[in-house]
Amino acid sequence: MSQEPLSQTQDTANPAVDCDVAIVGGGVAGTTLACALKDSGLRVRLLDAQTQDAAAARSQVYALTLLTGRILNGIGVWQDILPKITTFTKIRLSDGDRSGDVQFVPSDVGLDRLGYVAEHTPLLSTLQTFLRGVENVRVTCPAEVLAVEYGDDCATVTYSLEGTPHQLRARLVVGADGARSRVRTAAGIQTRGWQYWQSCVTFKVKPEKSHENIAYERFRKNGPFAILPLTGDRCNVVWSAPHGKARELAEMDEDAFTEELQRHYGDAMGRVRVISPRRVFLVQLMQSDRYIKHRVALVGDAAHRCHPVGGQGLNMGIRDVAALAQVIRDACSQGNDIGSLSVLERYERWRRGENWTILGFTDLLDRTFSNDFLPIVTVRQLGLWVLRNVQPAKTLALQLMTGLLGRQPQLARE
Ligand SMILES: Cc1cc2nc3c(=O)[nH]c(=O)nc-3n(C[C@H](O)[C@H](O)[C@H](O)COP(=O)(O)OP(=O)(O)OC[C@H]3O[C@@H](n4cnc5c(N)ncnc54)[C@H](O)[C@@H]3O)c2cc1C
Repeated sequence: MSQEPLSQTQDTANPAVDCDVAIVGGGVAGTTLACALKDSGLRVRLLDAQTQDAAAARSQVYALTLLTGRILNGIGVWQDILPKITTFTKIRLSDGDRSGDVQFVPSDVGLDRLGYVAEHTPLLSTLQTFLRGVENVRVTCPAEVLAVEYGDDCATVTYSLEGTPHQLRARLVVGADGARSRVRTAAGIQTRGWQYWQSCVTFKVKPEKSHENIAYERFRKNGPFAILPLTGDRCNVVWSAPHGKARELAEMDEDAFTEELQRHYGDAMGRVRVISPRRVFLVQLMQSDRYIKHRVALVGDAAHRCHPVGGQGLNMGIRDVAALAQVIRDACSQGNDIGSLSVLERYERWRRGENWTILGFTDLLDRTFSNDFLPIVTVRQLGLWVLRNVQPAKTLALQLMTGLLGRQPQLARE
């Protein structure tokens, strides 16, 4: 683990601040931003409340879009990540037990793959390792940020390191500190959104037969049921259900749970064996009223959260990171103040609208498919028919979900 010496160092080029960018939160979004600012000429500090090992120890799994792969490639870390994750080459989308699923294949977007599935630990620890070779970034952890004060010329971050309070002055503070962001609260930024009526139960399974690199999204009345292919012919399941049912699924004894799971999972991969604990997540849609204010910007779950259907949450965060890194680098090369509103507004204009599109799309998917009201069933059957039979509509939907629609950041083109 990279550790910051206890004594504070001053920026010799600008004695009024200790660093240019202080990133609060060393999850995947914050760590990716630190990596993306490699060789930017900016002095960057990354603070996380946990040790790096603890931050990387989560059992979470992410479907990653093609665009996320391109951004990580532009940063220069993708070749280290790719051998540790799965590439999927087909998506099968179905409506309950109704026949006629929609199958997406790489030729629908003129490529050779449709996306990736990464486990949190190899993903974050590879980013952390990459960061160790980045000279302009210093990691301070475990350092819990307690407060942030935003002034005209700099923001002052107060954090606790080994039980002792420390202060750090930065030209820009980035909140990458997750859904309950203290950076966002300290800036007085409000959020809007709602909790869904569903929770998600997630766990890993080992099926009898190969997953053949297919990702499944099955829409059922109770909520979507997703199967993502993992390395070693394992799969990750995200099973959405009303809160009570989700709790019941999480608490069922192993044999009863495996039987119920098998009914939902189907027989395509033979018998399945559950190989991890089951974890329950509440599901929420949240959008911050602002992504920026003077001397602060929000990225990742600190800025927004969405329903896991379609696996978009972290991908939105990685796009935020690529956009913010580009805006900051451009401002820096033009001699502009990276923490000023005029600079940061470029980031907000770019990302907030695009994220609304994804939030709206995932919300629409969940609502129209978790529904047995006949007119809605008819509309969605029509929608699925269009996806099966009208190629431009299929291509457009796939471009949206793979991140290929919208403004592409410079990093994705490198
Ligand atoms: C069931 C489920 C399935 C999902 N599946 C997908 C998927 O397939 N694809 C996808 O793209 N997304 C998915 N998501 C969304 C994804 O999990 C999140 O978007 C992502 O984890 C957010 O990453 P982050 O780095 O922004 O925040 P976090 O992972 O929450 O990281 C925040 C970091 O900030 C640190 N921190 C917090 N407070 C402080 C403080 N005061 N001081 C210092 N450090 C602090 C924490 O220690 C942590 O390391 C899913 C979500 C759920 C619930």
